[in-house]
Amino acid sequence: MQTVSALPRILQVAIPSPLPQTFDYRLPAGHSAAQVAPGMRVRIPFGRSEKIGIVVALADESRIDHARLKPVLELLDQEPLLSPAIQSLAQWASRYYHYPIGEVLSATLPTLLRQGEPARVTGEKVWSLNEAGGAIDPATLKRAPRQRALLTLLQKSQKALSAHELDLQFGNWRAIMRHLLDKGWVEIQQQTTLLTTATESSSAPPLNAAQHAACNAIHHALGRFQTLLLDGVTGSGKTEVYFSAVEKVLQEGKQALILVPEIGLTPQLLKRFQARFAVPIALLHSALNDRARLNSWLQARAGDAPIIIGTRSAVFTPIKNLGIILIDEEHDLSFKQQEGFRYHARDVAIRRAQQAAIPVVLGSATPSLESLHNARQGRFQHIILPERAGNAAHPQIRLLDLRQQKLNEGFSTAMLQAIQHHLDNGQQVLLFLNRRGYAPTLICHDCGWLAHCQRCDAHLILHKSRRLLRCHHCDSQRRIDSQCPDCGSVDLRPLGQGTERAAEALGERFPDHEIIRIDRDSTRRKGSLQALLKQVEEGRGQILLGTQMLAKGHHLPNVTLVGILDADQGLFGLDFRASERMGQLIIQVAGRAGRGESRGEVLIQTHHPEHPLLNGIIAHDYSRFASELLTERSQALLPPFRHIALLRAEASSRELPNEFLSAAREAGVQLPNAAELLGPIPAAMERRAGRYRAQLLIQADQRARLHNFLRQWLPQLSQLPLAKKVRWSIDVDAMEFS
Ligand code: ADP
Ligand code: ZN
Ligand code: ZN
Repeated sequence: MQTVSALPRILQVAIPSPLPQTFDYRLPAGHSAAQVAPGMRVRIPFGRSEKIGIVVALADESRIDHARLKPVLELLDQEPLLSPAIQSLAQWASRYYHYPIGEVLSATLPTLLRQGEPARVTGEKVWSLNEAGGAIDPATLKRAPRQRALLTLLQKSQKALSAHELDLQFGNWRAIMRHLLDKGWVEIQQQTTLLTTATESSSAPPLNAAQHAACNAIHHALGRFQTLLLDGVTGSGKTEVYFSAVEKVLQEGKQALILVPEIGLTPQLLKRFQARFAVPIALLHSALNDRARLNSWLQARAGDAPIIIGTRSAVFTPIKNLGIILIDEEHDLSFKQQEGFRYHARDVAIRRAQQAAIPVVLGSATPSLESLHNARQGRFQHIILPERAGNAAHPQIRLLDLRQQKLNEGFSTAMLQAIQHHLDNGQQVLLFLNRRGYAPTLICHDCGWLAHCQRCDAHLILHKSRRLLRCHHCDSQRRIDSQCPDCGSVDLRPLGQGTERAAEALGERFPDHEIIRIDRDSTRRKGSLQALLKQVEEGRGQILLGTQMLAKGHHLPNVTLVGILDADQGLFGLDFRASERMGQLIIQVAGRAGRGESRGEVLIQTHHPEHPLLNGIIAHDYSRFASELLTERSQALLPPFRHIALLRAEASSRELPNEFLSAAREAGVQLPNAAELLGPIPAAMERRAGRYRAQLLIQADQRARLHNFLRQWLPQLSQLPLAKKVRWSIDVDAMEFS
């Protein structure tokens, strides 16, 4: 007979695995249920290996015979790592995105915790000069300029520097640091807190009327759930509004979570937050090392960091006393995870705010159509900042009609003249071309052969400086052909224009001006984007040329001319969101012009000067542009008027994905109250990295209906005979159809 105990004996554990359910385990010998609570990590035997799981509940009974249950191997925490709020947020996300709870919970944890490390703030190595090093005159290092530069950096710095900070400020510093260490000038310490404090401070400018109204609306919403859409043109002073909201929250002894799209944005925004608030700020983004990230996470959780700034996954950070969530550039696509656990951080944040009964502010100059629609429906409170703050005026925007114009390496005469003019005035110029590499491909002038990727339905991109042809989809690469593989001709020419080629042309045309190229190739090294942006800020580079990396929130006060070299790229995309994206991108880039004293000018090169999209943009009227797009979407029954999910499948043969999706469709249409199923159709790029891809679109007029359908349908799909022969996934609220 079994002894009956008052305490539950079964632990239900979520384990990262493709299986949707939790798994039952027994308590380890010598432990009582009083030592365990949901949100703690346990080490458990799983199949033939061991895994780390998270306890989601305790129970008296298991469906599995007690004798067959395995005991937990080890309890890893003394207290729950994940607060009840985060646990229930994860449960919601697991249901909403139809993704296994074990995977979702694991995704909320920093890597080191996922690997079983103790949840303790531990030291991070920091480097500083000792007394001897501080006394050295850098001039004595004449023959070792890199050592001199690093010594100077350390002498100027008021505090010891972490590896991350050194990465940002000094490329390849480790080898040089070793020399300084050998000379006995440097000491290494373990620093247990990496919270940043301000070195310079700034105070609030007097706010204008629109900013005041915005601040009031947010202050008014504190302490209850409300989503506010802060819809303010670029340069309208949204950041000042964030500051005011954060100040108020901190005064109440609460914490603020700020989500930003990408790491490129963080340094400037972080600097501004640091300058305004003399409080510890926890940073959470993927460029941090695992240790630093764990420390930030723990400090947010313990309530030691009043301000938390992070990218997408930071939305799941446990925060002791959360008072507000701010999402900067809410329209940005990087908030949506595109693989694995395909969540949208903005939508998760809204859910989180609702659970916590706090406001969430979505800021953007170009709000997503989803958010605008929600605002128009009254679900979000719409706050508008219609004018640029301070003295800065709107830039003047003009279209340059390229039809029948002679182009010089992609530049019209008018564009070149304008560049010259602004440079002559001592201003900086920003040129936008959303295509990296030298040219989109290589063509044979004799037979028309084009360089094609062997594994994808895509052209190979020509990277001239690295002498490579490279596929941007599967990363395969090869040396540039010297002869046409079809006809043997040696007359192979670059076709079209990328940033590398544009930079080369600009170098020839403006030899006396420094050109800075910013794209993923030129910023591959850690910290190089920051270094380049710093040069621009200091006024060193006069011509700044780059891809969409440049569109993101950077404040470049000396840029007076923005040139968009090819606006036609996005006008006729396959994806129904292509025009929304292109409009947002152009407006964001244009917003970099004239943010300082002088008025800005924006020139847009196009072959389609009558296009309504472009004309909405020159009228500075994103709202009108967005209204037109919303009307189109409503007529075409597309999001945000419909709720969608995308079932994707891929395999090494062309037929399998299609057959799997057809079978899935057949299973679906038989269900009661089925959602609409459209397809299957091949993906826009059918073959990628050697695999064929197809998709089935699931649509419903109501969200609940979509989810009810998915709940019944998805479990059936894993039973389909073809399910094991293809790789398939479901993407709820899919953002990209490529
Ligand atoms: P946004 O985030 O909306 O693009 P920012 O917050 O970066 O705008 O503000 C743009 C510039 O205007 C910044 O240099 C900021 O310091 C300045 N600014 C903001 N609000 C005011 C104000 N009320 N008066 C004067 N300058 C302001
Ligand atoms: Zn040829
Ligand atoms: Zn490829």
